[in-house]
Amino acid sequence: MTFSKQHRSLFIGLLLVLELLVACAVLYLVLQAFVQPVIVTQRNERDEIFMLAAYGLAFKEWDGDYGQQKPLRGSNVAAVLVQDDKIVAYGLNREFEKRQLLYHAEMDLVLTYLDKLSHTQKNVATLEAATVYVTLEPCLMCFSTLRTLGVERIIYGERDMAHGSIKALQGSYMIHRPELIPAPTPFVNQLNVGFSHASTVQGMSLRKWLHRQAVKDIYQSAYCSLLVYKLRYTENNDALKNAQNFLQETPGTMPTCK
Ligand SMILES: [Zn+2]
Repeated sequence: MTFSKQHRSLFIGLLLVLELLVACAVLYLVLQAFVQPVIVTQRNERDEIFMLAAYGLAFKEWDGDYGQQKPLRGSNVAAVLVQDDKIVAYGLNREFEKRQLLYHAEMDLVLTYLDKLSHTQKNVATLEAATVYVTLEPCLMCFSTLRTLGVERIIYGERDMAHGSIKALQGSYMIHRPELIPAPTPFVNQLNVGFSHASTVQGMSLRKWLHRQAVKDIYQSAYCSLLVYKLRYTENNDALKNAQNFLQETPGTMPTCK
């Protein structure tokens, strides 16, 4: 009897230790996701660099508090187009400025760039082998436009559960389409968690959220992290310099980095 009780206590003790270890492992993984970018490959690192440039652009071109400043340009969403490790075009959401709801950041980028190309080349302009980095998950309109133009990859930041294309494309028949890849940087998690809280607790819309100071602060942190970026892959040196120079040359507010 005593022997059996001892075994039972030992068994329960082992179970508790096991549960504690599992809980620690889960906590560790969650913390890792929040504090460290998921940089595994050279391409991951390059993707993080150009996404940080997109955040930096959104910070420099920040459009004030929702409803407080008129006319507003549009939501604080930015996109950059990368070919051969160089940012060759960029766009910002200009829905209010243009008074057209079609002017998402990706559309602004595409329309501006194609217009420029049509003046410099004879053939029909495409964006084959290009990558677009956009701070908000693209909607179906933007996704389809980028697909039509031959964009190879789309790296996106914050999720847009209401209008984003990821859920809409699940089970899609489309075979040849751009890859939709979450940006490997911890700033995305900060934005997702922040908006999840704001929408749950305050019922805030994504449009209003993207004009909040909290978002601007995260964009600024992303910009600052690009300025002091430590490369793991020296092959990305040109990409890093290009991204830093791009922000240097773009008009707008410079960040205050600690
Ligand atoms: Zn869109």
